[in-house]
Amino acid sequence: MRRKLVAGNWKMHGSLTENEALLAGVLAGVAGAKTEVAVCVPFPYLAQAQAKLNGSAIAWGAQNLSQHGKGAFTGEVSAAMLRDFGCKYVIVGHSERRSLYGETDALVAEKFEAAQAAGLVPILCVGETLSEREGGITEEVVARQLDAVIGKSGVGALADAVVAYEPVWAIGTGKTATPQQAQEVHAFIRGKIAGLDPAVAEGLIIQYGGSMKASNAAELLAQPDIDGGLIGGASLVAEEFLAICKAA
Ligand code: PEP
Repeated sequence: MRRKLVAGNWKMHGSLTENEALLAGVLAGVAGAKTEVAVCVPFPYLAQAQAKLNGSAIAWGAQNLSQHGKGAFTGEVSAAMLRDFGCKYVIVGHSERRSLYGETDALVAEKFEAAQAAGLVPILCVGETLSEREGGITEEVVARQLDAVIGKSGVGALADAVVAYEPVWAIGTGKTATPQQAQEVHAFIRGKIAGLDPAVAEGLIIQYGGSMKASNAAELLAQPDIDGGLIGGASLVAEEFLAICKAA
């Protein structure tokens, strides 16, 4: 049985005061959870997450990193810096980074490699836009996104990573993929990796992300290849997030 991972992606939300209450609420409710739980917070709040969550059952991480180790890269944050703040996870290739900041498959692969080199576990986001789905090229797009990482780091690197399938049309839109639509793509991802390394495929956590909430989580998480969730909006409300953790 694969373990499940529910990770919150706070995006650019929060304040010291709001986070204090949110983290306290999640901590209070998560005790005894069988699922692994993590929160990926904005960079300035990593110290706060570390102080609040250290020694707890909740891991923390960041939402992006530089592909570079150090140097004249104003405004960037390296993988080693994230490790300094106790991060376990870092989201790589979120669709908002790809579409708003021009991150290419090649850049995402570099970031993935930089994360692993520093001992972080990358959560690699893949997924198609609505027009790509309607054009019947969902699998082609997801395969291309995976191949960039596999080509650079090798399929074995996925043994120490998480993949998040996030259909772009479902992120923050309230439109969730049906459990069948999500399962189809998850099975495709696992099957593709199994073609290269069956053991890596069997152990790989593939999260679903895209408007997952308390009311639809159980059905999605009951699918055989859905091993948790990457949760945006619903991770900002302790009760919603905890309900998803319980469903997992
Ligand atoms: C996300 O940010 O990765 C995400 C899935 O957002 P939401 O849950 O709000 O759709």
